[in-house]
Amino acid sequence: MIQSTGKTNLLGLTQPKMEAFFEQLGEKRFRAGQIMKWIHHYGVDDFDAMTNVGKALREKLKACAEIRGPEVVSEDISKDGTRKWVVRVASGSCVETVYIPQNGRGTLCVSSQAGCALDCSFCSTGKQGFNSDLTAAEIIGQVWVANKSFGTIPAKMDRAITNVVMMGMGEPLLNFDNVVDAMNLMMDDLGYGISKRKVTLSTSGVVPMIHRLGEVTDVALALSLHAPNDELRDQLVPLNKKYPLKELLAACNAYIGRLGEKRVLTVEYTLLKDVNDQPEHAVQMIELLRNTPCKINLIPFNPFPHSGYERPSANAIRRFQDMLHRAGYNVTVRTTRGEDIDAACGQLVGQVADRTRRSERYIAVRQLAADEPGSLVQPVGR
Ligand code: SAH
Ligand code: SF4
Repeated sequence: MIQSTGKTNLLGLTQPKMEAFFEQLGEKRFRAGQIMKWIHHYGVDDFDAMTNVGKALREKLKACAEIRGPEVVSEDISKDGTRKWVVRVASGSCVETVYIPQNGRGTLCVSSQAGCALDCSFCSTGKQGFNSDLTAAEIIGQVWVANKSFGTIPAKMDRAITNVVMMGMGEPLLNFDNVVDAMNLMMDDLGYGISKRKVTLSTSGVVPMIHRLGEVTDVALALSLHAPNDELRDQLVPLNKKYPLKELLAACNAYIGRLGEKRVLTVEYTLLKDVNDQPEHAVQMIELLRNTPCKINLIPFNPFPHSGYERPSANAIRRFQDMLHRAGYNVTVRTTRGEDIDAACGQLVGQVADRTRRSERYIAVRQLAADEPGSLVQPVGR
């Protein structure tokens, strides 16, 4: 356990909570906006650096508050530009955050829990079991850490992080309040100003929480489907026994329906060789999703030791994609990124990547730093 200081961590406070904090201190509410900009736009964690805050208030804040991001254990950069941070949270566990640059976008994949209780059969995070929920500060702290490492300040508001996906470790809907607070900070102009269409929550299907989500936010929703019938889904995603497909799709349809025109569900489908990649599965999926406005994202399985699964051949993946495509679906295949630093989907276990590949990565880091003059990136923890 990391020792608690007993101070309020301002990093995870949404605007209303920050205003309430200042009111409680006997200060004006507008201070909330000032402090939030220092924290999220400038990446500042030292009250003395806040030049538009008087000395008396700075001293008062120092006595009762802090701005504490998660501790960065390592930062790695893949040959393909993908970056991975391992950060330690208060419970002592480590979680991972991954940045994926692609086609002018920069997507940050954020963790919501250390480990996961849901034990999907093909997921290495699930295999490690549940460790702890992350606080709102630890969730938004991952965005804060990444943003700082890119040196994003208002002068460079053409930001590196354009999209956030809650697709790291953990089931975000089982850490509901903290995830919602953190997503609100991602979207708030006093936070990171990311559009609601570019913040995506991915769930394995916690039905009551999908309904609750629709009452408090309108972020994009992704469903981890992985099987087109209950019998198979019960095996791959054990949560399906509690919330079977019919209920699950009804909840997703209701959520998407509330968002209005042109918003669609993202359906994630991890392709497992000879398990869920056969033509009959594509046929069933076409039928299952008939009434759901969606786009489908196929994720070829990313292997990990003793998983018992294999990735299908390129031909099998193409065959599956073609069948869905011919039925009129928008289908993409997620390219595997950051494999050399163990940053691909399902490989996130909160560990620093294999040391034997360090030197290769070190060269990649140096190369990237050279390509990006003024880059703040330093190889960490070597
Ligand atoms: N718990 C949430 C979000 C995190 S997982 C969820 O399950 O939706 C992000 C995505 O990666 C999910 O669709 C998950 O099923 C998928 N995934 C997990 N392990 C994988 C693996 N080994 N290979 C490919 N995709 C995997
Ligand atoms: Fe948890 Fe998602 Fe992994 Fe399932 S796929 S075990 S819900 S992190």
